Amino acid sequence: MEDWSARASELYDGGFRPMFIDGDWCAARSGAVIDARNPADGSLLATVPKGDSADIDRAVAAARKAFEGPWSKFTPFERQALLLRIAEGFEAEWESLCLSDTLDMGMPIQRTLANSRRVLGMLRFYAGQAVMIHGNTIPNSFPGEIYSSTVREPVGVVGAIIPWNAPIAGSVWKIAPALATGCTVVLKPSEEASLTVLMIARIMQNAGLPDGVLNIVTGHGSDAGAALAAHPDVDKIVFTGSTATGQAIARAATGNLKKVSLELGGKSPVIVCKDADIDKAVPVAAMAVFANSGQICIAGSRLFVAREIHDEFVRRVAEFASNLKIGHGIATDTDIGPIITARQAERIAGFLAAGADEGAEVLAGGNRADRPDLAGGHFIQPTVFGGVTDQMSIAREEIFGPVISALPFDTIDEVVARANATPYGLAAGVFSTNLGTAHKLAHRIKAGSVWVNMYHAIDPAVPFGGVKMSGYGREGGTEHMEEYLDTKAIWINTD
Ligand code: NAD
Repeated sequence: MEDWSARASELYDGGFRPMFIDGDWCAARSGAVIDARNPADGSLLATVPKGDSADIDRAVAAARKAFEGPWSKFTPFERQALLLRIAEGFEAEWESLCLSDTLDMGMPIQRTLANSRRVLGMLRFYAGQAVMIHGNTIPNSFPGEIYSSTVREPVGVVGAIIPWNAPIAGSVWKIAPALATGCTVVLKPSEEASLTVLMIARIMQNAGLPDGVLNIVTGHGSDAGAALAAHPDVDKIVFTGSTATGQAIARAATGNLKKVSLELGGKSPVIVCKDADIDKAVPVAAMAVFANSGQICIAGSRLFVAREIHDEFVRRVAEFASNLKIGHGIATDTDIGPIITARQAERIAGFLAAGADEGAEVLAGGNRADRPDLAGGHFIQPTVFGGVTDQMSIAREEIFGPVISALPFDTIDEVVARANATPYGLAAGVFSTNLGTAHKLAHRIKAGSVWVNMYHAIDPAVPFGGVKMSGYGREGGTEHMEEYLDTKAIWINTD
């Protein structure tokens, strides 16, 4: 903790951090600011501009000018070289980026540091993809010498809106494929965690990104975010956040029928079969929720356990939860960091009370974590509820906190039906040593990702996203490139 504390005070001293429009580091037109506070102790890290629709207009105009001007002259190989230089910049600054995220949104430093493979991988994967974009020559039914072919073109100006729970990966996963395809970007980070995204823009500028190709407008969702989603000169919105906001964005996008892709919430099932390897499954099933204090969209918050092993398995998950260390993110032995805001902690505490009221049994945690060294922060104990039924609010609603609802099941058909009985479809986990059972479940669960005997694996090369009310579109893999490209057909008569 000592080392990281000293570096923390060098990184942020409460001063103003400008946003980034058209290569310029600037304040909001209105001059208003937002406080960026450390959720672990409430201290002021910095202030950032409170951008609004006037700043969004400026950023979109800059992105349009860059898209039609200098950026359109970059060859795919030049875009690739730029992405590789950006990756080097990230590697050089990696510890500062991770520390910034830990301070700004609370994720334990060990976890932010461990994300490097994924983030550097994204930049390098999309650098590779930049030179793989191509159309086809297609035979047609016309007589004579009429040739038809397709070319792939960037969609144009992309508006990206991200939540606060993973600013580094969340922003890079939207910016890297946009740069690879030749799009330009206006990104609005969450009002709760903007600081690291501003550092990322600085790294990209230093790597030689032309002015206007990436613009960061800090601000609230209700003004800056809504203005970006509705903007008539934005061609595509990529959004990660809650389902309710995703719906508002999809509605706002209808004005100019811009394309939309949405990565939304979840209530993901983890299914532990009677033949699971219990020793291996307990920590993975527990961390499927407790990682980042449960503030992850893929949290496996409904733990279905075969009745034969239910009591032992759930007792061991509860024991695991009770041994997790709650603390400040910059302490290297912290497992459970703070919740992002007092409001969010209040919401989670409401679910803890509702679970107990509705008759669930608290097997671990169940309260806020109040210790003198946690004063000023918002901490919740990792909680395991037993005796949960599918109808209880803790089994139905996305809590976005460190709360597991354990539910026994008897048959595979039954658990498939119950696991799928949710409006969401983001992710699922299956634990079984029987290949047939694992396969059957992986195919029958409705979700964008299913992990068997593991959880949380996300890779730049593998598509990620949701079905049902967890959204549409995919990030990662070659599918992601499709989100940023249009296809044009070209016909040539050489007769
Ligand atoms: P949120 O929807 O409140 O905010 C997300 C972003 O949208 C923020 O930048 C916010 O300022 C902006 N926003 C809010 N209202 C807006 C509007 N009307 N128009 C445009 N922008 C608006 O979500 P949050 O609380 O920051 O994050 C938590 C949610 O995000 C959870 O539901 C979680 O499951 C989801 N999430 C999903 C994924 C995924 O990949 N599927 C990843 C992380 C988080």
